[in-house]
Amino acid sequence: MKKQNHTRVVILGGGYVGVHAYRSLIKGTGDLVRTGKVSITVIDPHTHHVFHGWSGETVAGVIRDENRLSPLRQIFPKATIVRGYAKRVDRVEQKVIVAPVGSDEQIEVPYDQLIIGTGVRDSLDLIPGTKEYGVTLRGESGPDMLRQRVIELTERAELEKNEEKRRSLLRFVIAGAGFTGVEMAAAIAELLKTLRTDYRVLQEIEPEIILVHAGGTVLPQISEEFPKLTDYATRQLLDYGVRFRFWTRMIEITPEGAALNDGTFITAKTVISTIGTSIKPMPGTEDFRREMLGRIITSPDLRAEKAVNIWVGGDSAHVIQVKRGKACPQNALWAIKQGEQIGKNLARLLTGMEVKPFTYPGLGQAASLGIGKGIVELRGMQFTGVIAWVMRLFFFLHFTPSRRVAFRALVEWATLPIGKRNRTLNGKSGLSTLVGSEKKVGSGFLRFSDITAHRN
Ligand SMILES: Cc1cc2nc3c(=O)[nH]c(=O)nc-3n(C[C@H](O)[C@H](O)[C@H](O)COP(=O)(O)OP(=O)(O)OC[C@H]3O[C@@H](n4cnc5c(N)ncnc54)[C@H](O)[C@@H]3O)c2cc1C
Repeated sequence: MKKQNHTRVVILGGGYVGVHAYRSLIKGTGDLVRTGKVSITVIDPHTHHVFHGWSGETVAGVIRDENRLSPLRQIFPKATIVRGYAKRVDRVEQKVIVAPVGSDEQIEVPYDQLIIGTGVRDSLDLIPGTKEYGVTLRGESGPDMLRQRVIELTERAELEKNEEKRRSLLRFVIAGAGFTGVEMAAAIAELLKTLRTDYRVLQEIEPEIILVHAGGTVLPQISEEFPKLTDYATRQLLDYGVRFRFWTRMIEITPEGAALNDGTFITAKTVISTIGTSIKPMPGTEDFRREMLGRIITSPDLRAEKAVNIWVGGDSAHVIQVKRGKACPQNALWAIKQGEQIGKNLARLLTGMEVKPFTYPGLGQAASLGIGKGIVELRGMQFTGVIAWVMRLFFFLHFTPSRRVAFRALVEWATLPIGKRNRTLNGKSGLSTLVGSEKKVGSGFLRFSDITAHRN
């Protein structure tokens, strides 16, 4: 067997973990990548990194969908990009079996070091009917399709004569009052407010946005520690006319609307689920120890427990904060910091140094509640209103992987007063299904070298 003279690093997923692992690996290995001693391959079915943080702004029409998306080939310039789904990890042969998008054949990508940053999926089983009739937001263009859908339903309501049908077209029910649910409620309200100028129907009847939540307060993640932020968020949503159904669970989504566990049924053309995520263990990694929801439990250095060359971070990982003994939250900042640490540790390993445990203490959290309104918790300090909104904006711009995309997003913010109304008038259709994207491909095998050969 031919001896390998360079180290092959394979990154599964071009999300937050992937991007930041890549960057700190490049930084930490100096010339090793340029001189070919270390090669990096990124595998992802999408062509772009999705900045989920701008989801609310995309729905509200503040930021164009393309300004949430950073092209993978630009943000991983020194890596080979394989556009496909990792289907299986063969840990004996050290290779990943990949189904390339648009091909019936599978390929093998060999690795010496493997980074898993494949995130999670929206759970489509938690509320029956979500897959068929519900709306979820995680996909590459989920928020943009929701925005288009709101516009299209408003157009339909404008033509509809029947009062009850009009109301149903303009009624939006959201399951879950966590960060995503709250941001979506505010974003839809903000979009409808902008549309009001151009649509008579919105001047005649009040659209309804209903947040259904199993607990007794919005943002349960922070409500005990930071009541000022929760109170502010609640007030802003009430000002927008959002109605709450607390202590209530959504139990089914049908073509007509949402059934709740208190026996009521809300007629609505749009039902959005923001609750629950799931992980389908990647074949070949099933024996890794996992927590209840399927996240891989890591060692302090972010390797899968007992693995020597498999690293995991972000939403797919269960990482214990060293100092607090608690699991790290699942959000972008933690995924970024874990990705960074994985890249640093790998660089240390490849340059003969000891790896270090992940000790990041956290920074805070933020949410947008429409234009000019936000909440931020920064190391225990609480900010609300415009200050929080602007802080969050700059923080997100800083972490947008492509500088070009960040600049375009900044220009959109700066031109908000003149640009926003135009962005709500767009002819694309959002009424097609918003869930389920994985493509089925055949099972023929093609070697990795077959697809990389033409690149040189
Ligand atoms: C609508 C929405 C809004 C959010 N808003 C915020 C926010 O405001 N602030 C915040 O901090 N967090 C927010 N989050 C959460 C945040 O986006 C996640 O915590 C973060 O994306 C996790 O990063 P990750 O790298 O683990 O996974 P991701 O960023 O999800 O990346 C996973 C990548 O893996 C790829 N992938 C999946 N399966 C495979 C496979 N089999 N083979 C190859 N590639 C694969 C995917 O295509 C994707 O590119 C939001 C999430 C959503 C859905």
